[in-house]
Amino acid sequence: MIDTHCHLDAARFDADRADVVRRAWAAGLEGLLIPAVGPSTWEPLLELPRKDARIQVGLGIHPQLLPDLPAEEDGAHLERLDALLGQGGAAAVGECGLDGPSQAGAPLERQLAVLRGHLALARKHHLPVLMHCHRLHPALIDLFKSEPLPEAGILMHSYSGGAELARFYIQKGCHFSFAGPVTWAEARKPLDALRVIPPERLMAETDAPDQAPTPHRGARSEPAYLPRIIEGMAQALGVPADVLAQRTTENARRLFREAFPPASR
Ligand SMILES: [Zn+2]
Repeated sequence: MIDTHCHLDAARFDADRADVVRRAWAAGLEGLLIPAVGPSTWEPLLELPRKDARIQVGLGIHPQLLPDLPAEEDGAHLERLDALLGQGGAAAVGECGLDGPSQAGAPLERQLAVLRGHLALARKHHLPVLMHCHRLHPALIDLFKSEPLPEAGILMHSYSGGAELARFYIQKGCHFSFAGPVTWAEARKPLDALRVIPPERLMAETDAPDQAPTPHRGARSEPAYLPRIIEGMAQALGVPADVLAQRTTENARRLFREAFPPASR
């Protein structure tokens, strides 16, 4: 199993990060993908795959971080991102995307400009994109209609857009990963979407430290909970959990262009 989205660099893991990673391997995981949230984390994150190739990273600017960054530096940040991606070592561009219709300090115009910058870099460096979209699917759909998408693909992370929108993203070649909400009792929308997505486009993630699956809901999530999420997905699809585990792992290996080392058996 590969956790395609966990923020292990978050401060909430400062006290016990090494234990969290150990528990992930003990739970049967073979890989972790850590998406950067902002420029100050890019260089430290790039150190991680050099030490252990089972930990891969994405480099990008999370839309929720934009209010903390001066807008006049967006261009310089994207230039530095270009240079770092050119050096190799990142498995993806992201986390990037759109969040909230009118986030203070990050008007839609700015969010779209920064996201376009990420998509251009993904095309240039032949990398897949880790896409965040919260409450702005209409704007993202407009962008996808007008912008050439990266050939290496797009992973819609913690997908919450429902089945109807999923059909549009499927037609655009997107992949989808699901997080803890698939195990929550009231989760209808992600499950409806899950059922219309082709099996070869599916992945799983914890989105740790957020969105913990049942029975850990409300507490800090961590990659060792990924099997619960895969069980929840498998149940909704009516397939055995081990089959889905294998399928989602293969899909992640392929999308991230074999950045994760082959499983040792
Ligand atoms: Zn994230």
